[in-house]
Amino acid sequence: MVSRVIPVDRFDLVIFGGTGDLARRKILPGLYRRFLAGQMPEGSRIIGAARTEMDREAFRNFVAEALDEFVAPGKREAAVVARFLEGLDYVAIDARGEGGWDALAGLMRKDVVRAFYFSVAPALFGDIAERLHQFGIADGDSRIVVEKPFGRDRDSARKLNAVLARHFDETQIYRIDHYLGKETVQNLMAVRFANILFEPLWNAQYVDHVQITVAETVGVGGRGSYYDKSGAMRDMVQNHLMQLLCLIAMEPPNRFEPDAVRDEKLKVIRALDPVAPEHIVRGQYQAGQGQPGYLADAENPASRTESYIALKVQISNWRWKGTPFYLRTGKRLRARASEIAITFKEPPHSIFEQEEGWKENVLVIRLQPNEGINLKVMIKEPGPGGMRLTQVPLDMSFAEALGEEGADIPDAYERLIMDVIRGNQTLFMRGDEVEAAWAWTDPIIAAWEARGDRPKPYDAGTSGPEDALMLLHRDGRRWREIRE
Ligand code: NAP
Repeated sequence: MVSRVIPVDRFDLVIFGGTGDLARRKILPGLYRRFLAGQMPEGSRIIGAARTEMDREAFRNFVAEALDEFVAPGKREAAVVARFLEGLDYVAIDARGEGGWDALAGLMRKDVVRAFYFSVAPALFGDIAERLHQFGIADGDSRIVVEKPFGRDRDSARKLNAVLARHFDETQIYRIDHYLGKETVQNLMAVRFANILFEPLWNAQYVDHVQITVAETVGVGGRGSYYDKSGAMRDMVQNHLMQLLCLIAMEPPNRFEPDAVRDEKLKVIRALDPVAPEHIVRGQYQAGQGQPGYLADAENPASRTESYIALKVQISNWRWKGTPFYLRTGKRLRARASEIAITFKEPPHSIFEQEEGWKENVLVIRLQPNEGINLKVMIKEPGPGGMRLTQVPLDMSFAEALGEEGADIPDAYERLIMDVIRGNQTLFMRGDEVEAAWAWTDPIIAAWEARGDRPKPYDAGTSGPEDALMLLHRDGRRWREIRE
């Protein structure tokens, strides 16, 4: 199966923070891959902007090095790289200063899509938005892309929204959550809404529970002091896990259009119950496997920030009342694995005698590694041994199902940037969605801060703290194994 590449319109994309880590690792290599695939049209331009003084040539060299490091050798065709680099420019700009803006204004063209990627600290969003306006660089059709973290609570998110709203309409603002750009996450919507098979069963009557896991093997070393101010709840749950939960739990939108989808996600967030303290387990990894523990990584021996969190979440609406959603995410865990598992209830009556007990149907949506969808079903064990049942996976790994193309699934950033140029906001968070997510998160954090809770220690390379196992044991359930 060959995927179709539909070129986007020509564009001028300015990357504020063009010399930063995200630009180097994700944005610029992603744009190159879209160029190679023929999706980014010739004549489009990418303009780096940051304080560092350098000329166009130096920026091209910087990008060439980034491509060497972050694009697979088989994808680096010298002639294509050279053509891609020709479309790059650079302007030295301090977001808080006055220099460089006129030069940037002079580079922008009238007849192409204008997009501005704010790949800088959120504290600079307002300054950049203000100057884009002041120097006449952005117009009513321009798009701006903003990165996480979008605030650290509802108040700060509100302020950021207000700052951006001063100069940009909501239809121009693309709040990125790269989880929404993942192939499987979009497939989750396709599986739910393009097939008749699942939707009738997609409710509390048939779904026993849902598990959402985002497990990482890395610690926070290197960005420990930054991470220590946020923790797993703010860094992962409020945004990424919340978005996944919304896509599983939302009602079918009437169309696959930005506001129709985002309205439904917002309803889910607003239907989330507050979470009781006994339904939350926070953890901190200890030294192990030759690596320092969290406290050393965070350079804060008294830190009470969690590097792991597990929560039991309930949704109070007609569809989901009574079906728990268990969420967990953490650092330095056994394996790097992200998945959503929907466990269905047992059939009301079994006509088979089962020695080993019944195994429920489970639909597993795998986000990384090996993106794919897998449905565990019961079948008869092959052979003449009587009517013995066994569970087998109906497996759809995208890499296999889509052949060569599948092995080359575009990175989430590539896809999302192309959506920005197309002007499609469906996979981006709306301002009210982000605020609602914080409104749910804030009291949970405030409660454990007020109690002075300390996270439970857990050994590196495990599945997290023991108490997290108990969270499900108490409900007669167990976590799925974390494995690659
Ligand atoms: P970074 O490596 O620290 O880069 C920051 C960039 O901003 C640099 O290019 C820096 O260049 C520029 N900059 C800093 N102050 C500036 C100013 N006053 N005016 C103009 N440019 C300025 O940060 P990053 O990791 O790329 O992250 C960028 C944003 O993406 C942050 O909001 C971060 O939270 C978010 N994010 C990053 C990742 C990631 O994987 N890195 C993932 C998710 C979200 P100069 O020093 O030359 O000015």
